[in-house]
This record gives sequence, structure tokens and C-alpha cells, in this order.
Amino acid sequence: MAEELNPFKIAQAQLDTAAETMNLDRQAHAILREPMRTLTVNIPVRMSDKQVHTYTGFRVQYNDARGPTKGGIRFHPQENIDTVKALSAWMTWKCSLANIPYGGAKGGIICDPKGMDERELESLSRAYIRSLGRYIGPDVDIPAPDVYTTPQIMAWMMDEYSNIVRHNEWGVITGKPVEIWGSEGRKDSTAMGAMYIMREAAKMLKIDLKKAKIAVQGFGNAGMYAYTLSKKMFGANVVAISDSKGGVYDPDGLDLKKLNDAKDKTGSVDGYKSKNAEKVSNEKLLELDVDILIPAAIENQVRGDNADDIKAKLLLELANGPVTPEADAILHEKKVLDLPDFLVNSGGVVGSYFEWVQNINGYYWETDDFYAKLDKILTKSFKSTIDMRKSYMDNGKRISPRTAAYIVAVDRVAKAMKVRGWY
Ligand code: GLU
Repeated sequence: MAEELNPFKIAQAQLDTAAETMNLDRQAHAILREPMRTLTVNIPVRMSDKQVHTYTGFRVQYNDARGPTKGGIRFHPQENIDTVKALSAWMTWKCSLANIPYGGAKGGIICDPKGMDERELESLSRAYIRSLGRYIGPDVDIPAPDVYTTPQIMAWMMDEYSNIVRHNEWGVITGKPVEIWGSEGRKDSTAMGAMYIMREAAKMLKIDLKKAKIAVQGFGNAGMYAYTLSKKMFGANVVAISDSKGGVYDPDGLDLKKLNDAKDKTGSVDGYKSKNAEKVSNEKLLELDVDILIPAAIENQVRGDNADDIKAKLLLELANGPVTPEADAILHEKKVLDLPDFLVNSGGVVGSYFEWVQNINGYYWETDDFYAKLDKILTKSFKSTIDMRKSYMDNGKRISPRTAAYIVAVDRVAKAMKVRGWY
């Protein structure tokens, strides 16, 4: 039978596993299996050739028992409602595990941002906010950047929302440019969070990061910073990196300037030139003989059909949903420590939380404070996951870090729903 790759079915299956393991109340489980609100909008936008094109967009608000819903907006040609639903569920678990006062949401527009000019992108961004304006707000639902959305797009969206409510509402959206009170540190906070997790996991597994070999799949905001920060903070050797077109492997390590040159000249990092560099496909990159593997691109990269070929001892899911449940089971058997997305990439939303707190208070922190607070939260999330896993292990039940993290996160949301009288 073909493996189930529908992200929402995957998210539900992950929840079901956790629910069974933790003996979750049946009614709480039923509430948590579906999003509370699913919105679809069709937005006409006048393109630069004067024609009107109608785009379809989504916003899914999964659960707000612990606070306003929170999560990014993706601009992607293959966007679909099930992916957005899954991502909104993962945001719920992410905010809960980090113990920040938010529920989860996600948005998306089916579009190809690479084929649009700046004016078209601005019109689309503003139109999306006009059609969703009444359903979002700093106490209701707070969007942020995600795949192919940028601080500039957040700025247009914040501006449009402010026009609707007739005052500047900085806290309606995060990941803004610093000129309009985005936060110092937010830009690399997703990757920075993963670095703190990597530091803790390496300590636990006794991996010497100075000697470790790392492969990173993806050269977007998360992947690019994961590469630079691994080198800068730990002196680690990143031997492979890729983008959507292909990748490069060099056992001697990779140089940022050469990577950027390759990207500028050939459109992909696979055009990288050095003595020992060779091209590597996105598939093969995952199977390289490295200590740490960081998938930082898109969903469903490590699956039932390739999980057995993974050689890394530590897998850090910096992308959302890069490992399928079948792969999960295989990695678990192989004793690869696979740390789940909603732990590893939670630095992004924690950074967003800091931005929102500063916006609401109108008081802005030093960058050092931002990172110190980020470190504290991420280290604590790691510890709660590992402690939860250990408490099951001590009772003779070997559970994966993903299930352990789910149990921590789901338990908090279930308890909030319970005291509120939802079940
Ligand atoms: N898009 C990021 C994520 O998936 C950040 C979300 C946010 O900052 O609200 O976690």
C-alpha cells in the first residue's frame, strides 16, 4: 500500500499515537483532531497586464484554548487546504510545547510568487488582509512569514490592517521589518532556536560539534541561517547544502561567499565550484554519511522508502513535516535521534512572540536579551521533551521524541480546554 502523504492525515495520525499513549480523554481527542475554524477566500487582483486574476487563499485557526491563534502565511503554487490544516495543527503543538500564550493557525495563498512583480505581490498581500481582516487581530489571530513570504509582505499586511482598524496595529502581524517595530533577532530566530536544540542534543549524545559533519537540506531563511550559525557558533563542518534545484557536497566544508556566487550565477547552490565539491541531489543529500542531518525545506522528505538509508545519528527537523510516520518508525528502530519539527523550529514563533510582546508594551529590548530569552525557552522545551520520554522509558515504554513532545503539548491544550469547560 502506498504511504499516506497527506499532511493533515499525518498530523492526525501523530496526534492519535500520542492520545493513545497518554490515554487522552476521548472528547478532548475529538476536539483536537479537527481545526476550529477553516476559512477559504477568493481574491481578485489586478495584474500588471491589467487583467484580473482570482487567487484562492486559506486561513485555518486550529485551536485557541491557550490564546490567540498564531502562525505564518505561505505563498506557494501547490498550496492546498490539507497542508494548511496540518500546519495549523503543528502550530498549536509548537506554541504549547514552547509554553507561549498562543493557539495555532496557518494561512496560505495558491500563487507563484517567483512569477509575480512587486506591485502584484503587494496587491495580493493587501487583498488577502482585506478579505480576512475581520477574523484576525492582535488578540485574535496573528500571522507571520513562512514559505516565500517576507518581512516586506508583513509590512504591507500590517499597513492594510491598520487602515481597516484606523490606527497603527503593530501587533497584528510578526516578522515585520525593524523599521516598523519588527524585532531585532526575529530574522534568524528559527535557525537560532535549532542551534540551541542542537547544542543540547549533541551534549546528550556526546557529539563533539567542532568535529561534527552536518548536511542541510534547504537554503531558505531557515536553512541558510542554520548553515552560517552552525559554523559560527560551534565551528561545525557543514559539508552539504541544497536548494529546490539541487545541492552541493564538499567533504572539506562549504564557503558562504562561493555558495552565494553559485546561486547568483547559476540560480542554484549546485553550481558551487571548489576542488573537491560535487553535485548532490536533494534525495542523496539526506543519505550522506554525516553526524547531523537538518532537513530545512519542505514536507515529506524522509519517508518509508528512504528512512533506512539515513546515516546521521541526529536528525533536526527544521522544516515543517519533513519526516513521515512510516519513516518515524524506521528511524526509531535504527535509534536515530529524530527531534520533531514543532520543537526544533519553534524559535521562529518564539521570536514572533517576543516581537508581539514588545509591540504591545511599546518597549523594545536589546538583541542580547532577545537571544538569552530564546535560549531559555528552547532549552526548556528540549528538556520537557526528553524528560517526558524518560518518564515513559522508566516505565518500560520506549516512545519517540515526537510522541513525547506531543504528550507535553497536547496535555497543556487539553487542560486549558478542560478548565474552560469545553469538555
Ligand atoms: N512560520 C513560522 C512557523 O512555522 C513562524 C510562525 C510565527 O512566527 O507565527 O513556525
